[in-house]
Order: sequence, then C-alpha cells, then structure tokens
Amino acid sequence: MDIGLKGKTVVVTGGSSGIGLAAVRVFLEEGARVALCARGADRLADAEAELAGTFGADNVFARALSVLDKDAVASFAQDVGSRFGDCQVLVTNAGQGRVSTFADTGDEDWRDELELKFFSQLHPIRAFETMLRTSGAGSIVAVNSLLAYQPEPHMVCTSAARAGVQNLLKSLATEFAPDIRVNSILLGLVDSQQWQRRFDAREDQSQSRDDWYDALARQKKIPLGRLGDPHEAARAIAFLASPAASYITGARLEVSGGVSRFV
Ligand code: NDP
Repeated sequence: MDIGLKGKTVVVTGGSSGIGLAAVRVFLEEGARVALCARGADRLADAEAELAGTFGADNVFARALSVLDKDAVASFAQDVGSRFGDCQVLVTNAGQGRVSTFADTGDEDWRDELELKFFSQLHPIRAFETMLRTSGAGSIVAVNSLLAYQPEPHMVCTSAARAGVQNLLKSLATEFAPDIRVNSILLGLVDSQQWQRRFDAREDQSQSRDDWYDALARQKKIPLGRLGDPHEAARAIAFLASPAASYITGARLEVSGGVSRFV
C-alpha cells in the first residue's frame, strides 16, 4: 500500500536515536525527504552520514539543537524551508521521561519537566506552522505516552505533563483544522536508548539484557509479552503523518503491546 509520502518533506525532532531515528528511516524508505534534529552533534552526524549513504545526501538534513531553544528551532525551520522548499509533516518526538515520585520531585524538577514536555511541542509547532498550513496537507504527529491516561506514581511529573500535552493536542487539532491534522501516538514500553540507560543502571549487573527485558515485560504485564521495537512505533507515526490518514485528526493511537487498562 502506498501511503502517499513520496516527495513530501518531513521533520523529526529527536531523530538521532530510538523511535525518532526509526521514524526517519521509515519516512526515507517511503520516499520522503527528512530533516532531523537532536542535541548531541556527534551522534546526529553519525546518523546523518549513515542515512545520506543509504538514501542520498539530497534527502537528508540534520541540525544539532535543543528543541527548548526557541531561536534555534525557528532558524532550523527557516533552513528546512530553504533546503527543501516546503514541509508537510512534523513529528514532535524529542524528549525523555523522568523517574521520580512526588516526595523526591522538587519545584525545579517540576519546572524542568513541564518545560520539556510542553515546549518540545510548542517551539517546533510554532516554527513550522506556516509551512505546514500552506503545504495543502499539513500533519503533526506527537510522540506521547500512555502515562497521559494511566499515570504512574514513580513518574509523577512526567505523567501529569503528558496528560497536559494530550489536552493541548486536542485543542490544536480543532484550531488547526482543516489545514493541519494533529494526532498522537501513545507509547507503552519501547526498546530505545531510554531503556538501554535504565538497563545499564540495573541493580543486578549480572542479569543479561534479554533476561532483564523479559522480566520487565512480565512485571508490567504486557499482553504481547515483550517491549516494542522502535520500528513498530515508527510505522504508526508514518501512517498517522501520511495522506493515508487524511480523515484522522485529534486522534491517539496506542503502541503498547496492549498494556493500557483504560477504555
Ligand atoms: P531515545 O533516548 O532513544 O531518543 C530520544 C531522542 O530525543 C534522541 O535523539 C535525543 O538526542 C533527542 N532529544 C532529547 N532531548 C532533546 C532536546 N531537548 N532537543 C532535541 N532533541 C532531544 O528515546 P526514545 O526513542 O525512547 O524517545 C522518543 C520519545 O518517546 C521521547 O519523547 C520519549 O520520552 C518518548 N517515550 C518513549 C517511551 C519508551 O518506552 N521508549 C515511552 C514513552 C514515551 P540528544 O540526547 O542528543 O538530544
């Protein structure tokens, strides 16, 4: 099935690792041109070189920046416009979760987390809004978490912030219609650098990677019995971003192996 991404310009924030990098690959495989950003310049340059080698340097554009730096994001958008001429798709993926309970989350931690979750959406959306509107088929896909609907006390501020972001996206879906569709994916546990970092910091260092991940899937009672692969999240992102989802806006798609408990 051709989902209609050929020749489209796609921007992926946090595109140097995990789900973002997998999404970049899927968009390129579908024939799109992709601009990606992340903070770490070396890892981003490695990703850019590998992608340019496989998909052609003309189709890939990378910029090292933090999505929390408003001016840098605005300048990135301008350069994407100069380089590719337009932009149909924005994937707001950059970020990470914070593991902390109410007791060990200070006011500064709350401010940092709320800033990360909200402004990682707001800065890129503002910067690319005009290009998305004028593209004729603008589409935003936000990478969010089941925590928005199913909070975890050990991730108290991430859960609360993600609920707020989901609420924001619903408003944007109405305000931006019919020019830009706005949808989200809700992740459960997907194997990425985030989980690699938690594996590296595991208590029992003798436990193998497979055993640690199997135990995690059992502990979280994931019906499909395993963590997701970044590529599985990426395909859901590409579908929602594409003209194949042209009558879908304000929607959320769970990519969680069935671990959600709400209906
Ligand atoms: P990774 O750590 O593998 O990838 C995160 C990407 O975001 C990297 O490219 C990172 O690069 C980039 N990034 C982080 N902060 C910023 C920033 N301020 N500005 C620009 N880029 C940034 O993790 P995932 O692939 O798992 O994460 C992707 C998204 O999915 C995140 O928002 C995460 O919170 C969310 N998520 C993931 C879940 C999972 O189970 N994997 C579950 C729920 C949500 P760099 O560090 O160099 O900036």
